[in-house]
Amino acid sequence: RQPIIAIDGPAGAGKSTVARQVAAKLGLVYLDTGAMYRAITWLVLQKGIALDDECAIAELANHCVIQLSPGKDLQTPVQVWINDTDVTQAIRTHEVTSKVSAIAAQSAVRQALLKLQQNWGKKGGLVAEGRDIGTQVFPDAEVKIFLTASVSERARRRQQDFQKQGQPEVSIEQLEKDIAERDRKDSTRKVSPLQKAADAVEIRTDGMSVSEVTEQIVDFYTN
Ligand code: C5P
Repeated sequence: RQPIIAIDGPAGAGKSTVARQVAAKLGLVYLDTGAMYRAITWLVLQKGIALDDECAIAELANHCVIQLSPGKDLQTPVQVWINDTDVTQAIRTHEVTSKVSAIAAQSAVRQALLKLQQNWGKKGGLVAEGRDIGTQVFPDAEVKIFLTASVSERARRRQQDFQKQGQPEVSIEQLEKDIAERDRKDSTRKVSPLQKAADAVEIRTDGMSVSEVTEQIVDFYTN
């Protein structure tokens, strides 16, 4: 199979933006695994299922169809459908973002998505981005990157994303709180917590431009 690049890291570290650029530069497929967890979360909320009803959520995760297709340009997030409903915008709301960690902590959900994600990687040639790509999904990935940045930098980037997407304004203080809380939940859950793989290279992106980070990863891949 062709090589795989795994990019993990906390919320708002720039994984999606960078992963899209790297994939475009190298002619690889881009896989946004967070979009899958978000899509299931959207469906759970839409169906009015309680977040702790693990049986009903497992049933949903095992029978839903999730489709992903690249955004219209490199600045645009991936397009997402769940059971044929276009949820591209709906999965980026504050409602979904604040609930997704609770759904992603459930082992049945992770098992269902793990299978899907590993299917995407069968032939390789993939840049996959998430929280457990280098540790669980593709532990044999040729290149493993752990992207980080300070909470304040990540909150600032999130605010810019919201502005670009025409979403309601959220204060920096609130964004910092939300990001720190999501990181806490993602790194302390029992199944596949957010963790740097032992063989991952850490890139701290404070003060770095998207193209600088992209270049570094492309260098790791080509050398
Ligand atoms: O990357 P993004 O912010 O879209 O991810 C949304 C959420 O999905 C994360 O906060 C995390 O709870 C979950 N996630 C995960 N494992 C992944 C990708 C995302 O648990 N590989």
